[in-house]
Amino acid sequence: MMKLRVQNLSKSYSGTDGVPVQALDNISLEVRESEFLSILGPSGCGKSTLLRILDGLIPWDQGDVERDGKPITGPGQDRGFVFQSFNLFPWRTVRQNIEFGLVVKRVSRAQRKEISSRLVELVGLRGFENRYPHELSGGMQQRVGIARALAIDPEILLMDEPFGSLDAQTREDMQDELLRIWSAEKKTVVFVTHSIEEAIYLSDRVIVISPRPGKVVQIVEVPFDRPRTPEHKGLAEFSELRQKIYATLKANK
Ligand code: ADP
Repeated sequence: MMKLRVQNLSKSYSGTDGVPVQALDNISLEVRESEFLSILGPSGCGKSTLLRILDGLIPWDQGDVERDGKPITGPGQDRGFVFQSFNLFPWRTVRQNIEFGLVVKRVSRAQRKEISSRLVELVGLRGFENRYPHELSGGMQQRVGIARALAIDPEILLMDEPFGSLDAQTREDMQDELLRIWSAEKKTVVFVTHSIEEAIYLSDRVIVISPRPGKVVQIVEVPFDRPRTPEHKGLAEFSELRQKIYATLKANK
């Protein structure tokens, strides 16, 4: 059974001048259980819109959106969201940020501590539990963002360009961290990015979306073994795949 299924999905926003802005046009895709799937496309092609629909945050006009064969009708504990802008509470410590969803869920204090301690360890933030977001680097803040999303033990992680605001080196380090966390946690991941290399490196499959209105223009199976290592990026097959996707994006400008 598919973890997520999107069929013939279309979505328009009402534009400022009353003319509708079509963000998504007849999108169909499926995400397998425990799959790492990337949604790749240029800025403005509707990637965030698609992710927010999967999270149940916004309505759509046409089509079916299902999790485990049931229609998605709103947000739920089964999905965790990781934002590009981290979206941490500045007045809460690392531990309090990670525990936020658990407080909302009325999980006991002792259990919250146990969960957050495990996640602090998992994302490599031991010793920083009592720091505030402004005391952390961008990469560390995003580790908190990932830990917070994992705290509610979701089945699906929805990630909206989570590394888009990090410098190149930190971004590469975080990609490896994410793969390590993903292999430990076995979540289904839908990862939005506009970096071809990032999408190939991380994913089992890459769904390529055209400029607005977003349409699926290519579905690419990534053939490389796990665990992925930076050496994969040096392979001829990696460059070929990158060229293939680049050509699709260029042809669909
Ligand atoms: P991406 O994540 O690929 O950059 P988005 O999903 O954010 O793309 O946006 C897709 C298109 O929909 C863009 O043209 C954007 O301007 C438009 N859009 C997004 N949100 C709104 C909104 N709330 N109202 C009107 N237009 C929007």
